[in-house]
Amino acid sequence: MKCRKCGSKAHVNMRQHKLALCREHYLEWVPEQTERFIKKYGMFTRDEKVLVAVSGGKDSLSLWDILVRLGYQADGLYIGLGIDGGIGYSHESQRLTEKFANEHDLKLHIVDIEKEYGQSIPVLSEMTHRGKGKPCSVCGLTKRHEMNRIARDLGYDVLATGHNLDDEAAVLFGNTLTWTSEYLLRQGPVLPSTEGLARKVKPLCRFYEREMTAYCLARGIEYIYEECPFAEGSTSIYYKELLNQLENVRPGAKLIFYLKFLEARRRGDLFVEQNEAQAHLHSCPKCRQPTSAPGLCSFCRLMEKTQQLDTVS
Ligand code: SF4
Ligand code: ZN
Repeated sequence: MKCRKCGSKAHVNMRQHKLALCREHYLEWVPEQTERFIKKYGMFTRDEKVLVAVSGGKDSLSLWDILVRLGYQADGLYIGLGIDGGIGYSHESQRLTEKFANEHDLKLHIVDIEKEYGQSIPVLSEMTHRGKGKPCSVCGLTKRHEMNRIARDLGYDVLATGHNLDDEAAVLFGNTLTWTSEYLLRQGPVLPSTEGLARKVKPLCRFYEREMTAYCLARGIEYIYEECPFAEGSTSIYYKELLNQLENVRPGAKLIFYLKFLEARRRGDLFVEQNEAQAHLHSCPKCRQPTSAPGLCSFCRLMEKTQQLDTVS
């Protein structure tokens, strides 16, 4: 595989974009694309202060790196959850986040949940008996709360998270399986600010997970490879696997699934009231059945066509 721009050896081959790039051109392409998405979805401007939620994983560190390279005012927020899981998960992810911040001379805020609220996430979860033995519900709730609190208290305009396309497609898939309209109507690259809450944005929502891995590799960013030990066996990982199977057979399927959803949402096509949909119908002048097609209904038009063909032959 050769780089489309310079012909040297490709670092990544993105089948869904029919595009292969060398390391150097890939490192240009990723920020260019990110800038395009930031503008397209109206995420933020260079005058606004952005708080990036960093976990020490590849996506959030890449996001921080890209925003800084693009010249945005981006500071980091690390939330210490106190999760060990036999691999010192929180400890290691904090170490890598601090290392990245120090090496790039960036401002990093650290909130330690145990210091702040007296207990780590797993203990808080056990004490409150929420979430069937997994701390994820308490963890998600706490993270959202803390991100909002820090953004508001320290005067940030925007809160940016590193969710990639694989994350977004998996969430969308889950919400579609249950037709949870309340979530579907809120899912997207930008969640506008509401009283007391900063705007939330996902600048990486159109990048595949493997594209972010390739970016870290090309940039030499050291990140935590392990997932949180509590993520094992989660439905979202299962949905990601299913979508990857689909993607293997039909490159680009994941991206289309997400983009077509955003399009439908923007047009207001999701969950249009039945009455409203029916309001566009009129009765076909020939067969009298209701139709949304202008003039004759599709069936009558089809029949007309076959008759025309008949007379021609
Ligand atoms: Fe928190 Fe880990 Fe669950 Fe993610 S997988 S919500 S980090 S406990
Ligand atoms: Zn090249």
